Parts: sequence; C-alpha cells; structure tokens
Amino acid sequence: QAKELGRNRFRYYTRALSEETDKRLKTESALREALQKDQFHMVFQPIIDLRSMEVSHAEALIRWNHPELGFVSPEYFIPIAEENGLINDIGLWVARQACHAYKGWLLEGLILNSVAINVSSVQFKKGDLGRQIREILEEEGLDARAIEIEITERYLMDQTEHTIKHLSALKDAGHLISVDDFGVGYSSMSYMKRLPLDIIKIDRSFITDLADDENDRQISQAIISLSHSLGYRVTAEGVENPAQLEFLEHCRCDFAQGYLFSRPVTETQFIDTVTEVNDRLRKHKQGSPDLAMS
Ligand code: C2E
Ligand code: MG
Ligand code: MG
Ligand code: MG
Repeated sequence: QAKELGRNRFRYYTRALSEETDKRLKTESALREALQKDQFHMVFQPIIDLRSMEVSHAEALIRWNHPELGFVSPEYFIPIAEENGLINDIGLWVARQACHAYKGWLLEGLILNSVAINVSSVQFKKGDLGRQIREILEEEGLDARAIEIEITERYLMDQTEHTIKHLSALKDAGHLISVDDFGVGYSSMSYMKRLPLDIIKIDRSFITDLADDENDRQISQAIISLSHSLGYRVTAEGVENPAQLEFLEHCRCDFAQGYLFSRPVTETQFIDTVTEVNDRLRKHKQGSPDLAMS
C-alpha cells in the first residue's frame, strides 16, 4: 500500500512538473509574439520625496495581458525573457515608452524629476544599451536626467569590473543609477561604495513589518544611515500604511513608494493621480491623520 501511495505521489509530482514545464513553454512562445501583437503596456507608480512631501519621480513597470494566458506577472516572464534574450527588445520598448510618457506629461505641464526603468543584467551584455537610450532620448528631445536606471542588487554582486564600466558610462551620460531590492542579496556597503550609484532602494520585505518587527526597523535604519554616509539617497519600497511612513520619516529616508500613496497607474491616469496624491500629502503635512487611499 505504501508502494501504491508512493507511485501516486510520483505521478502527482510528474504531472505537476510537466504542467509547470508546459506553462513555461507556452509563455515562452507567446512572449515571442507579444511585442508585435501589442500585448504589453506600461504602468507608472509615483515616488514621493519625503522632505517636500510631493511626488518626485516615477517607476515604470511593464504589464502583459495575453488573450489566453491572461495577466502574466513580470516576476514570471522577465526571467524567461532574460534567458532567451527577448529582454533586449522588451527593454528597448520599455525605455521608449518611458521616454514618451515623460515627454507627454511634460507637454501637459507635469515636470517629474525622472522616470525609472528596470534594467536587466542581460541588457548590459550587448554593450550598446547606453547608446540606444541616448537615441531614444534624442528623438524626444530629452535630457539623460529624465531616465533613471534601476538595477537589482543581485546583479551588482555577480559581475564586478564589467558592471562598474557599464554603470559608470550610464552615470557619466547623466542617468541616475538606483540599486533595486537592496538588502536581500549579500553585498556589503564597502562593495557598494565602489559602484557609481545615486539611490539605494530598500527591498519591500524589510518594509512590510516595519511597524512591529524590531529587526526590520534596525536593518532599515542601518541601510538608511550607511547609505547617507556614503552619499547615496534612499527609497523605501512597498510602503502600505502610515506607521511605516512615520518610521521612515523619523529615519530621514529620502523617498517612499507604495500602495499607501498610489498603485501603479496607466500613462493617461498618471497626471490625475499625481494631483490627487499631492493633495493628500499636503493635508498629511498639515497634520490631517488620514493618508490612506480613498
Ligand atoms: P521592482 O522593480 O522591485 O518593482 C516594484 C514592485 O512592487 C512592482 O511589482 C510594484 O507593482 C510592486 N509594489 C509597489 N508598491 C507596492 C506595495 O505597496 N505593496 C506591494 N505588495 N507591492 C508593491 P511588479 O510591477 O509586479 O513588478 C515586479 C518586478 O518585475 C519588478 O520589481 C521588477 O524587478 C520586474 N519588472 C517590472 N517591470 C519591468 C521591466 O520593464 N523591465 C524589467 N527588466 N523588469 C521589470
Ligand atoms: Mg524596480
Ligand atoms: Mg524593487
Ligand atoms: Mg522586486
């Protein structure tokens, strides 16, 4: 009977495994056509400057809606696109959308400090990312300052000289460089100091329980003060409640991003969202207790 059970379990696992493989293969082939078929769109999430209590910049995040697969998370398809090289084309498309959105908002009178795009390590391997972004910016008549580059800490740890070279070139060109998801990898601050960075983004996992987890409070506070002593500014990701915000303000965190302020919204919704968020922040500054989303 134990044998029978084992066999069933084995069948169960192999079925689960092949379903997983199947899903991956389907995603991969669907991904190849997604750009041509116009299935991607971008959303933008405001990032708040905690000193002025105003929207300072935004992060551009990709969305994929497939007619049969439905909504596919970037956490699922970006790694696949990195493996098969499609990330290069997707990444360029993202950069173009971000520049275009920034320009559009500018024409409507909204001056953002920048729009941040997420860049994968794979995009550095080809070596001409910097030039490609410059061309896109030139088409829109924008300064390099308009596009901020986010790279995950995990990637920064892998490659050293190569990374420093590419990041330096981007920074020299005028882009702000952010380290995304900071704190989940194992990089040290002394290592960070060797890199040409501007902003450290504390990973959401440290922010989630900030209100009642003493360890997370210590870690966040340490990241903020170390970053400041190295001349970097700090963004907290995933801020969802006023208690988290209060602690971050107390620690002199520079920027915050999260559902407390706004979820990511489409390009057309963005201007109204910024107005609405700034309104709420103004009331918060004047002491109104209710910052939660309406
Ligand atoms: P990320 O760069 O760390 O982006 C932040 C993620 O946190 C986004 O998820 C955002 O929607 C989510 N988020 C923001 N505020 C909150 C909050 O208060 N609570 C919670 N629970 N989540 C919040 P999203 O859009 O699903 O993206 C996931 C990841 O996929 C991104 O993490 C990034 O690594 C990657 N990604 C997204 N768009 C792109 C892209 O255009 N290119 C590349 N290479 N990667 C991308
Ligand atoms: Mg990011
Ligand atoms: Mg992040
Ligand atoms: Mg992340």
